[in-house]
Amino acid sequence: MAHIASLNPAAVGLAPPDVLVVHGPWEPASVVVLDSPHSGRVMPPDFGAVLSHEDLRDGEDEYIDELYAPAAALGIPLLAAQFPRTYLDANRHAGDIDLELLEGHWPHHYEPSGKGALGKALLWRTLDDGRPIYNRRLTVDEVLSRIERCHRPYHQTLSRLMDAAHRAHGRVLHINCHSMNAVAGAMGEGGAGTPRADFVLGDRDGTTCSAEVTHFVREQLAAHGYSVKINDPFKGVELVRAHSNPAAGRHSLQLEINKRLYMDQKTGLKIPHFGVLQAQLMQMLRAMQGHFA
Ligand SMILES: [Zn+2]
Repeated sequence: MAHIASLNPAAVGLAPPDVLVVHGPWEPASVVVLDSPHSGRVMPPDFGAVLSHEDLRDGEDEYIDELYAPAAALGIPLLAAQFPRTYLDANRHAGDIDLELLEGHWPHHYEPSGKGALGKALLWRTLDDGRPIYNRRLTVDEVLSRIERCHRPYHQTLSRLMDAAHRAHGRVLHINCHSMNAVAGAMGEGGAGTPRADFVLGDRDGTTCSAEVTHFVREQLAAHGYSVKINDPFKGVELVRAHSNPAAGRHSLQLEINKRLYMDQKTGLKIPHFGVLQAQLMQMLRAMQGHFA
Protein backbone atom coordinates (compact mmCIF):
# COMPACT_ATOMS: atom_id res chain seq x y z
CA MET A 1 0.00 0.00 0.00
CA ALA A 2 1.39 3.37 -0.97
CA HIS A 3 2.00 5.61 1.97
CA ILE A 4 0.44 9.01 1.47
CA ALA A 5 2.09 11.47 3.81
CA SER A 6 -0.59 14.11 3.58
CA LEU A 7 -3.72 13.98 1.53
CA ASN A 8 -5.92 17.00 1.20
CA PRO A 9 -9.64 16.24 0.96
CA ALA A 10 -9.66 18.26 -2.27
CA ALA A 11 -7.63 15.44 -3.79
CA VAL A 12 -10.34 12.94 -2.92
CA GLY A 13 -13.18 15.23 -3.92
CA LEU A 14 -14.53 16.16 -0.48
CA ALA A 15 -13.93 19.89 -0.28
CA PRO A 16 -11.63 22.62 -1.59
CA PRO A 17 -8.74 23.80 0.60
CA ASP A 18 -10.47 27.06 1.50
CA VAL A 19 -13.15 24.97 3.25
CA LEU A 20 -11.11 22.41 5.16
CA VAL A 21 -7.62 20.98 5.43
CA VAL A 22 -6.38 17.70 6.88
CA HIS A 23 -2.90 18.01 8.36
CA GLY A 24 -0.99 14.76 8.68
CA PRO A 25 -1.65 11.33 7.24
CA TRP A 26 -4.91 9.48 6.63
CA GLU A 27 -3.03 6.17 6.40
CA PRO A 28 -1.63 4.38 8.23
CA ALA A 29 -4.26 5.40 10.69
CA SER A 30 -3.43 6.48 14.22
CA VAL A 31 -5.90 5.50 16.96
CA VAL A 32 -6.17 9.25 17.72
CA VAL A 33 -7.99 11.70 15.41
CA LEU A 34 -8.15 15.48 16.00
CA ASP A 35 -10.50 18.11 14.66
CA SER A 36 -10.59 21.89 15.05
CA PRO A 37 -13.91 23.37 13.87
CA HIS A 38 -13.35 26.94 15.09
CA SER A 39 -9.84 27.97 14.03
CA GLY A 40 -10.79 28.93 10.44
CA ARG A 41 -10.21 32.50 9.29
CA VAL A 42 -10.63 32.41 5.50
CA MET A 43 -13.51 34.79 4.78
CA PRO A 44 -15.79 33.26 2.11
CA PRO A 45 -16.59 35.68 -0.76
CA ASP A 46 -20.34 35.10 -0.37
CA PHE A 47 -20.41 35.94 3.37
CA GLY A 48 -22.37 39.16 2.76
CA ALA A 49 -21.84 40.40 6.33
CA VAL A 50 -21.78 44.07 7.36
CA LEU A 51 -18.89 43.80 9.87
CA SER A 52 -15.12 43.93 9.41
CA HIS A 53 -13.07 40.76 8.94
CA GLU A 54 -11.57 41.33 12.38
CA ASP A 55 -15.05 41.49 13.95
CA LEU A 56 -16.08 38.36 12.05
CA ARG A 57 -13.30 36.42 13.81
CA ASP A 58 -15.48 36.57 16.95
CA GLY A 59 -15.62 33.22 18.69
CA GLU A 60 -12.54 31.94 16.86
CA ASP A 61 -10.39 29.36 18.65
CA GLU A 62 -7.22 31.27 17.75
CA TYR A 63 -4.08 29.21 17.06
CA ILE A 64 -5.73 25.90 17.93
CA ASP A 65 -4.83 24.39 14.53
CA GLU A 66 -1.25 25.64 14.92
CA LEU A 67 -1.05 24.38 18.51
CA TYR A 68 -1.85 20.80 17.46
CA ALA A 69 -0.03 20.89 14.11
CA PRO A 70 3.03 18.89 15.34
CA ALA A 71 0.66 15.93 15.87
CA ALA A 72 1.11 15.24 12.14
CA ALA A 73 4.65 14.06 12.93
CA LEU A 74 3.13 11.50 15.33
CA GLY A 75 0.96 10.19 12.50
CA ILE A 76 -2.14 11.84 13.95
CA PRO A 77 -4.47 13.61 11.49
CA LEU A 78 -5.90 17.03 12.30
CA LEU A 79 -9.00 18.15 10.42
CA ALA A 80 -9.17 21.95 10.47
CA ALA A 81 -12.06 24.09 9.23
CA GLN A 82 -10.86 27.06 7.17
CA PHE A 83 -14.14 29.03 7.19
CA PRO A 84 -14.85 31.23 10.21
CA ARG A 85 -17.21 30.10 12.96
CA THR A 86 -19.41 33.15 12.39
CA TYR A 87 -20.04 31.99 8.77
CA LEU A 88 -21.04 28.47 9.77
CA ASP A 89 -20.48 26.63 13.02
CA ALA A 90 -19.56 23.03 12.17
CA ASN A 91 -20.22 22.18 15.82
CA ARG A 92 -23.97 22.47 15.25
CA HIS A 93 -26.55 20.14 13.75
CA ALA A 94 -27.29 21.00 10.10
CA GLY A 95 -30.93 21.44 11.10
CA ASP A 96 -30.12 24.00 13.81
CA ILE A 97 -31.51 26.87 11.75
CA ASP A 98 -32.08 30.31 13.27
CA LEU A 99 -35.51 31.22 11.90
CA GLU A 100 -34.95 34.87 12.87
CA LEU A 101 -32.10 35.00 10.36
CA LEU A 102 -34.07 33.29 7.61
CA GLU A 103 -36.12 34.88 4.85
CA GLY A 104 -39.32 32.91 4.59
CA HIS A 105 -40.05 29.36 5.62
CA TRP A 106 -37.45 26.61 6.25
CA PRO A 107 -38.64 23.60 4.23
CA HIS A 108 -35.99 21.12 5.39
CA HIS A 109 -35.16 19.19 8.56
CA TYR A 110 -35.37 21.50 11.57
CA GLU A 111 -33.64 20.61 14.80
CA PRO A 112 -33.19 23.67 17.01
CA SER A 113 -30.68 23.47 19.87
CA GLY A 114 -31.89 26.63 21.57
CA LYS A 115 -28.66 28.47 20.59
CA GLY A 116 -30.65 30.50 18.07
CA ALA A 117 -31.93 32.60 20.97
CA LEU A 118 -28.29 33.66 21.59
CA GLY A 119 -27.71 34.28 17.87
CA LYS A 120 -25.42 31.25 17.73
CA ALA A 121 -27.18 28.50 15.84
CA LEU A 122 -25.64 26.86 12.74
CA LEU A 123 -25.26 30.29 11.15
CA TRP A 124 -24.55 33.03 13.65
CA ARG A 125 -26.93 36.01 13.61
CA THR A 126 -25.05 38.21 16.11
CA LEU A 127 -21.58 38.52 17.64
CA ASP A 128 -20.91 37.81 21.31
CA ASP A 129 -21.57 41.48 22.12
CA GLY A 130 -24.96 41.33 20.38
CA ARG A 131 -24.04 43.26 17.20
CA PRO A 132 -25.91 41.91 14.15
CA ILE A 133 -23.69 40.25 11.52
CA TYR A 134 -26.05 41.04 8.62
CA ASN A 135 -28.38 43.87 7.64
CA ARG A 136 -30.70 41.39 5.96
CA ARG A 137 -32.13 37.92 6.30
CA LEU A 138 -30.55 34.97 4.46
CA THR A 139 -32.37 33.00 1.79
CA VAL A 140 -33.03 29.27 2.10
CA ASP A 141 -30.68 28.69 -0.88
CA GLU A 142 -27.92 30.68 0.80
CA VAL A 143 -28.20 28.60 3.98
CA LEU A 144 -28.34 25.34 2.00
CA SER A 145 -25.26 26.23 -0.02
CA ARG A 146 -23.25 26.84 3.17
CA ILE A 147 -24.37 23.47 4.54
CA GLU A 148 -23.39 21.71 1.31
CA ARG A 149 -20.09 23.53 0.90
CA CYS A 150 -18.90 23.50 4.54
CA HIS A 151 -20.96 21.47 7.02
CA ARG A 152 -21.43 18.29 4.99
CA PRO A 153 -17.78 17.84 3.88
CA TYR A 154 -16.50 18.70 7.36
CA HIS A 155 -18.59 15.98 8.98
CA GLN A 156 -17.93 13.50 6.15
CA THR A 157 -14.18 14.03 6.40
CA LEU A 158 -14.23 13.52 10.15
CA SER A 159 -16.24 10.31 9.65
CA ARG A 160 -13.72 9.02 7.12
CA LEU A 161 -10.77 9.74 9.39
CA MET A 162 -12.48 8.07 12.33
CA ASP A 163 -13.54 5.08 10.21
CA ALA A 164 -9.93 4.55 9.06
CA ALA A 165 -8.69 4.60 12.66
CA HIS A 166 -11.47 2.26 13.77
CA ARG A 167 -10.70 -0.20 10.96
CA ALA A 168 -7.03 -0.27 11.91
CA HIS A 169 -7.38 -0.47 15.70
CA GLY A 170 -10.91 -1.62 16.47
CA ARG A 171 -11.42 1.73 18.19
CA VAL A 172 -10.85 5.42 17.72
CA LEU A 173 -10.16 8.27 20.13
CA HIS A 174 -11.42 11.53 18.71
CA ILE A 175 -10.34 14.76 20.38
CA ASN A 176 -12.54 17.70 19.41
CA CYS A 177 -10.16 20.65 19.91
CA HIS A 178 -11.28 24.07 21.17
CA SER A 179 -10.19 26.99 23.30
CA MET A 180 -12.12 29.21 25.69
CA ASN A 181 -11.84 32.74 27.05
CA ALA A 182 -10.04 33.06 30.39
CA VAL A 183 -13.20 34.27 32.11
CA ALA A 184 -16.86 33.92 31.21
CA GLY A 185 -18.52 36.81 29.36
CA ALA A 186 -21.96 38.31 29.94
CA MET A 187 -23.59 35.55 27.89
CA GLY A 188 -21.19 32.89 29.18
CA GLU A 189 -21.94 29.86 31.25
CA GLY A 190 -21.47 30.53 34.94
CA GLY A 191 -22.06 34.27 34.64
CA ALA A 192 -19.88 37.23 33.72
CA GLY A 193 -16.35 37.29 35.14
CA THR A 194 -16.32 33.69 36.36
CA PRO A 195 -12.70 32.48 35.99
CA ARG A 196 -12.36 29.24 34.11
CA ALA A 197 -10.18 26.20 34.71
CA ASP A 198 -7.07 25.61 32.60
CA PHE A 199 -8.87 22.82 30.74
CA VAL A 200 -12.47 21.67 30.46
CA LEU A 201 -13.15 18.16 29.17
CA GLY A 202 -16.60 17.48 27.74
CA ASP A 203 -18.05 14.02 27.23
CA ARG A 204 -21.71 15.02 27.48
CA ASP A 205 -22.02 13.56 30.94
CA GLY A 206 -20.19 10.36 30.11
CA THR A 207 -22.13 9.55 26.95
CA THR A 208 -19.58 10.28 24.18
CA CYS A 209 -16.53 8.39 25.45
CA SER A 210 -15.63 5.87 28.11
CA ALA A 211 -14.73 7.13 31.58
CA GLU A 212 -11.30 5.54 31.04
CA VAL A 213 -10.55 7.93 28.16
CA THR A 214 -11.79 11.03 30.00
CA HIS A 215 -9.81 10.14 33.11
CA PHE A 216 -6.68 9.30 31.14
CA VAL A 217 -6.71 12.74 29.49
CA ARG A 218 -7.48 14.46 32.79
CA GLU A 219 -4.54 12.71 34.50
CA GLN A 220 -2.18 13.60 31.65
CA LEU A 221 -3.04 17.30 31.98
CA ALA A 222 -3.27 17.38 35.76
CA ALA A 223 0.24 15.84 35.94
CA HIS A 224 1.58 19.22 34.73
CA GLY A 225 -0.24 21.02 37.54
CA TYR A 226 -3.14 22.26 35.44
CA SER A 227 -6.68 22.56 36.77
CA VAL A 228 -9.05 20.33 34.81
CA LYS A 229 -12.83 20.30 35.00
CA ILE A 230 -15.17 17.79 33.43
CA ASN A 231 -18.44 18.85 31.78
CA ASP A 232 -18.32 22.13 33.72
CA PRO A 233 -19.25 24.48 32.15
CA PHE A 234 -18.81 22.89 28.69
CA LYS A 235 -20.22 19.41 28.11
CA GLY A 236 -19.47 19.10 24.40
CA VAL A 237 -21.80 19.83 21.52
CA GLU A 238 -22.65 18.39 18.10
CA LEU A 239 -19.33 17.02 16.85
CA VAL A 240 -18.75 14.76 19.85
CA ARG A 241 -22.43 13.83 19.95
CA ALA A 242 -22.75 12.94 16.25
CA HIS A 243 -19.50 11.01 15.84
CA SER A 244 -19.32 9.01 19.05
CA ASN A 245 -20.51 5.56 20.01
CA PRO A 246 -18.44 4.37 22.96
CA ALA A 247 -20.04 0.91 23.01
CA ALA A 248 -18.72 0.41 19.47
CA GLY A 249 -15.25 1.72 20.34
CA ARG A 250 -15.85 5.25 19.03
CA HIS A 251 -14.81 7.71 21.71
CA SER A 252 -15.16 11.48 21.31
CA LEU A 253 -13.97 14.00 23.87
CA GLN A 254 -14.22 17.78 23.68
CA LEU A 255 -11.07 19.48 24.95
CA GLU A 256 -11.32 23.19 25.82
CA ILE A 257 -8.02 24.95 26.53
CA ASN A 258 -8.01 28.23 28.43
CA LYS A 259 -6.61 30.86 26.05
CA ARG A 260 -4.52 32.41 28.84
CA LEU A 261 -2.27 29.31 28.64
CA TYR A 262 -1.02 30.18 25.16
CA MET A 263 -1.97 33.72 24.10
CA ASP A 264 -2.46 37.28 25.24
CA GLN A 265 -6.09 37.99 24.45
CA LYS A 266 -5.50 41.78 24.48
CA THR A 267 -2.77 41.77 21.82
CA GLY A 268 -3.90 38.57 20.09
CA LEU A 269 -0.30 37.33 20.16
CA LYS A 270 1.08 34.02 21.35
CA ILE A 271 2.94 33.98 24.67
CA PRO A 272 6.15 32.01 25.41
CA HIS A 273 4.15 29.28 27.20
CA PHE A 274 2.65 28.36 23.80
CA GLY A 275 5.63 26.11 23.07
CA VAL A 276 5.54 24.52 26.52
CA LEU A 277 1.84 23.76 26.22
CA GLN A 278 2.32 22.42 22.70
CA ALA A 279 5.01 20.01 23.89
CA GLN A 280 2.80 18.88 26.78
CA LEU A 281 -0.11 18.24 24.41
CA MET A 282 2.13 16.19 22.12
CA GLN A 283 3.29 14.20 25.14
CA MET A 284 -0.37 13.55 26.00
CA LEU A 285 -1.16 12.40 22.45
CA ARG A 286 1.84 10.06 22.41
CA ALA A 287 0.71 8.60 25.73
CA MET A 288 -2.80 8.06 24.30
CA GLN A 289 -1.35 6.26 21.28
CA GLY A 290 0.75 4.08 23.57
CA HIS A 291 -2.07 3.28 25.96
CA PHE A 292 -5.02 2.80 23.63
CA ALA A 293 -3.58 1.58 20.30
ZN1 LIG B 1 -14.47 26.08 19.72
